[in-house]
Formats: sequence, C-alpha cells, structure tokens
Amino acid sequence: MIPITEYAGRDVAVYGLGRTGLSAAKALAAGGARVHAWDDGDAARAKAEAEGVNVSDINKRDWQKFAALVLSPGIPYRFPQPHRLVRMAEMMNVPVVGDMELFARAVQALPEKGRPKIVGITGTNGKSTTTALIGHILREAGRDVRVGGNIGTGVLDMAALNANAIYVLELSSYQLDLVESLRCDVAVFLNISPDHLDRHGDMDGYVDAKKRIFANQRPRDVAIIGIDDAYSQAAAMGRQRPGDGQVVQISSEFGLARGVSAVDGHLYDSTGGQAIRVGDLVEAQALPGRHNHQNAAAAYAACHALGIAPSRIMAAIRSFPGLAHRMEMVGEVEGVRFVNDSKATNAQAAEQALKTWPKVHWIAGGVPKAEGIEPLTPWFDRVAGAYLIGESETAFAKTLKDQAPAMKCGTLEAATQAAYDAAKASGDPNPIVLLSPACASFDQFKDFEARGDAFRAIVQRLTAQVTPQKAAV
Ligand code: ADP
Repeated sequence: MIPITEYAGRDVAVYGLGRTGLSAAKALAAGGARVHAWDDGDAARAKAEAEGVNVSDINKRDWQKFAALVLSPGIPYRFPQPHRLVRMAEMMNVPVVGDMELFARAVQALPEKGRPKIVGITGTNGKSTTTALIGHILREAGRDVRVGGNIGTGVLDMAALNANAIYVLELSSYQLDLVESLRCDVAVFLNISPDHLDRHGDMDGYVDAKKRIFANQRPRDVAIIGIDDAYSQAAAMGRQRPGDGQVVQISSEFGLARGVSAVDGHLYDSTGGQAIRVGDLVEAQALPGRHNHQNAAAAYAACHALGIAPSRIMAAIRSFPGLAHRMEMVGEVEGVRFVNDSKATNAQAAEQALKTWPKVHWIAGGVPKAEGIEPLTPWFDRVAGAYLIGESETAFAKTLKDQAPAMKCGTLEAATQAAYDAAKASGDPNPIVLLSPACASFDQFKDFEARGDAFRAIVQRLTAQVTPQKAAV
C-alpha cells in the first residue's frame, strides 16, 4: 500500500466504496487522515466496515470540515451531470480528487532523486494489453516494476514508492478527468475512437481527458503517440511546442520515416532517422492482428525510452503470455478453435478481431453501444454466421440482414453450441468460433470477465463431450 500523508490529521470524505474507493480510504487512514467513507449500497458499506474502514454517512456530516472529497472513477464527475455530492463539494469549496491524483501528489512530494519512474498508458482500446506487455518486458529486463491503475491492482494498493521502481499505470479517461498533478516520464497514447461519450459530454471532452496524460511532462519526458486515427494525429501535432516532452510516433498502418512502425508483421525502429528492423511480430503468438501490433510498437517505444535494448524487448514481446478475454484461445474441439474476446465491448474492438481471420463464426450481442454494429459492415463478408445473444439480438439481426447469415440464439450457451455445429459442418480445416460481442455484458453477466469465463466453461464442456475419458482424468 502507498500511505497518503497529505491529509494527516484532517477529515476526508471518500465516496464510492468499490475497489478504488476502499483502497483510497485505507491509504488515507494509513497516512493519518480521519476518513469518512460512504457508499449508497448496503453491501459495499458492510464490506468496507469488515475491512476496518470508518464508514460514516457523509450526507449528514458538516462539509466545512472536509479537506477533500475522494471520488471513485465510477461516479459521474461532470457528465451526464455532476453527481449531487460533487456539486455539494463545489458549493462548499471542498476539492474533488481521485486515487490517481493522490498517488501523483505523493510522488511529486518526493525529492527528484527519490522519485520512481512512471509510465502511463491511455487510449480507447489496447490499454490493458499494452500495460501488461510493458510490465512483462520490464520484468524480463530485471527492472523493479509494478503494474496497476485501471488494470488489476488499484494504484494506492501498489507496493510503496521507491526510487528504483517503475510504475506502469493503465489510465482510463475517467481517472484522467480527476488528475492534475500526474507527471508521466513516459506517456503512451494509443488511439482514439468514440466511447464513453455519455461521461465526457462529447468527443472533444473525451479527447481532452485523454490528453491530460501529457500534462506536467518535462522536456526529457517522452510521449508515445499512435497516429493511426485522426484524433491521435491531432494530439501528436499538438505536442510540438518548445518545452513539450519528446514525441515518438508509432503506427501499425504506415512505415514511418521517424518513429516506430509495425508493417506487414515486422517491427521497425526509425527513431534514429534510419529504419532498423527489430523483429518479426508473427512470432509473438499472444499478439495477433494489426491492433496488437500497434500495442507492441507502443510497448517497444516505451521500453526503449527507458533504456532497454531492442533485442531484449523483442525477446520479451515474443514470450508475452497475453491477457485473458482478449483474443484468448480457450480451446480446440475437433479442429474448431474457440477464441474468447469478451473484452470487445464496442464495435472498434470487435472490428480488430473480425479483421484477424478470413472467416469466423461470430458470437455477438449484449447491451449495445450507440453505434451498434453498423461500423462493422465492411467486415460482414468475413462472417460465416452470426450467433446473436442478449438485448441487442433483434437490432443486430436487422443490421446483418442480407449481408451475413444471422441466428438469434438468446443465450451464450445456445450460441456457442450453434456456432460449433456450424463450424464443424463447414468443412474448413481450422474454423474459428469467435466471441467478440461488440457490447457490454450487463444484461446477462456481471461483467466481461464473467462472460468470458462462461464461454471458457462451455468450451470445456464441449471438450469433455468429445473426449469424456480425458476430461475425467
Ligand atoms: P482496453 O484496456 O483499452 O479496453 P484491452 O487491451 O483490454 O484494451 O483490449 C480490449 C479490446 O480491444 C480487445 O477485444 C482487443 O481485441 C481490442 N484491442 C486491443 N488493442 C487494440 C488496439 N490497439 N486498437 C484497437 N483495438 C484493440
């Protein structure tokens, strides 16, 4: 844990007691603050109390006493409208902060020599993969690395600050919205496409939140920016003033004269003005597809900026085991391969998966995003069959009409069975059944992890049916 001493001896309100709120409450208490933690849910309050957090109804407290309101990223800060307690804090001049800001200030308070390095990663898609990949490369290179933030461990639950450590932090736009003081030695800005617009007002609000990752960078710091979409290109153009950090552009679409590019599966480093071929990304089995090559290019650039040799980086890219629920191969039954891409909760993410294979048996659906699967129309010719589940069933069947065979299956179980039967009957040598829903999961599952785990379990059952003796061992 990273104790937060900034509020020692003062009263702090913590609102929202999910993972982040709980860890903030504990870190503040460990640093000597008087914590008043609250959540509207009974279960969350009971859990906090059981973990020794001081639960007290901040609605009934005197707000003049609060030195800060620590807000969980799940609670609306500005859009669609500020939460009632955010307005209350503003009325009473109580600063609103998030856990990442508390971390950033704790780092800032250290003398420059005792300061750990910070690598921040943001973007619409690929954050977790890139964060985990950078963590893996640095670990393989023998560095003292801690990975967390929006992935895995909450930032204040990470091991205590120390000068030799490198903190690799996944940063969501919600977290960046509440950050003022974070200085990233290396800031990775992967890509931008419309997402979470309800929480940021509009596209400009969303892009502005993401760009906060560059705030406070100094001339020696490095910004790594994907330039494969127009918003990110504009962000790269905007970082050219004197005093801005150095910019390394990356692309998995074009060979760059200066930057890091992944072209036709090969990784090139032309940051020195001359293109050097670093290695073959086809050997990185856990990173299939052009989108993952963007992640690999970003991770390479970040680790190179931290002084790791290209050959070591490439060896670690090759040995990266991958993350669950992101194009994860979860089984093969009678030649049919099953890929779990449950994390694809929007069309852009699902597009990356559809692009990877010439033909797929595609399981999709759930709680759709505003654009539905319209943006995927150019890829419908790769869909051998669509097996639809959840709330979006009828709408998706309508979008697919006449462009790809679609079947409304209701549940994931029925969809997986139908996709498996069709894949087996197709006669293709190695057909793919792909779960890449382009939707949130909340209509049928707790979260995308539960959806992916359910898919894995169904595939295990299919395996057991085919090889009952083996499964019994
Ligand atoms: P995030 O943490 O940003 O949500 P993940 O690494 O968890 O990103 O990947 C989420 C989904 O997005 C996966 O389904 C994957 O197929 C897709 N994806 C991963 N990297 C990229 C990328 N660079 N560009 C577009 N889509 C990507």
